[in-house]
Amino acid sequence: MKPRDLSDHVAYQAGRGIEEVARELGRDPSEFVKLASNENPHGPAPAAVTELREAAPGVSSYPKSTHADLTAAIADRWDVDSEQVWLANGGDGALDYLSRATIEPDDRVLVPTPGFAYYGMSARFHHGEVAEYELSREDDFAQTADAVLSAHDGERIVYLTSPHNPSGSTIPLPEIETIARETDEETLVVVDEAYGEFADVDSAVSVLEGRNGFESRDDVAVVRTFSKAYGLAGLRLGYAVVPDEWADAYARVNTPFAASELACRAGLAALGDREHVERTVETAAASRAVMREEIESYVWPSEGNFVLVAVGDAAAVAGAMQERGVIVRDCSSFGLPGCVRITCGTEAETERAVDTLNAVLADGIGSPTADGDSARGVSET
Ligand SMILES: *Cc1c(COP(=O)(O)O)cnc(C)c1O
Repeated sequence: MKPRDLSDHVAYQAGRGIEEVARELGRDPSEFVKLASNENPHGPAPAAVTELREAAPGVSSYPKSTHADLTAAIADRWDVDSEQVWLANGGDGALDYLSRATIEPDDRVLVPTPGFAYYGMSARFHHGEVAEYELSREDDFAQTADAVLSAHDGERIVYLTSPHNPSGSTIPLPEIETIARETDEETLVVVDEAYGEFADVDSAVSVLEGRNGFESRDDVAVVRTFSKAYGLAGLRLGYAVVPDEWADAYARVNTPFAASELACRAGLAALGDREHVERTVETAAASRAVMREEIESYVWPSEGNFVLVAVGDAAAVAGAMQERGVIVRDCSSFGLPGCVRITCGTEAETERAVDTLNAVLADGIGSPTADGDSARGVSET
């Protein structure tokens, strides 16, 4: 036999790893820096590492109480009920749970383009279909209720990403509220805040919970992850904050013990390590500023731990940078063949990325666009 017809399904393209690239080029891994997957340049929170060591002998037990403890700590952090916190295997796992809880066969979801590939993948796994709304390069990928609503046609889930991957743009909370209000009662607005810690904006949990002047809603969910600001990408830990009306749904859709004992323990420790998160956020802000200032091509403003750069031929530029030891993300798979995305590294890593990219561009690889208009494609016809 064979698997079901998967011809509509496309494989997720992850950023390339140092080992993989070094092997392919026959070079030593120590020559490379990887700025392709928006990982934390400071590694995991030290408290989480200690916790992992100490938790190792206990992994023969199911993570019952630690799962509950982490859920309670996250609920406390957002001032919501524990039932509203859906722990999952990464933010991606949380997206899957939201799909499981809402999508009936042939339901459609509305996703941004360019955008994060997993939204559509998850919908297809759940026998749903995918429609797109466009974030326009001419408008610096500005996210507005208009852009979403003009494309919306009764989809069951609408995905918003704030900050947006790969552009770094954010969507103001009043726009999110408008989208939730103007779409059908049965449409869930998922606000993916995988990079929320890096942005100087309030979380959409305010819209969900009816804080700061909003009225509470039962059709908004917020997704967060420990992979980025907390530096725990390898552990796979994320969660959704859902409306309190959904209280009993999690028990019906989750894979038993969605998050492992190690993930829960490390997540709890990481939540308590504010210094590490603050340092991480400061490093990203400094790195973004340096890249915007010093890269000799157009760099979009970003609220994430990465920037999007207009380089002309992204495959050629990413390839040349990789040859010179800096792995960045060619954004062709996001639908942006003229752009690379560079993760914010430490000061030294950022400097190396800037120097390498400028040298590649100076060598005539790619085509830098000095001014914003041509980078945005405004001058092209
Ligand atoms: C990284 C990321 C996620 C979640 O990643 P996990 O590692 O599964 O937690 C979700 N959405 C976006 C846009 C991301 O970039």
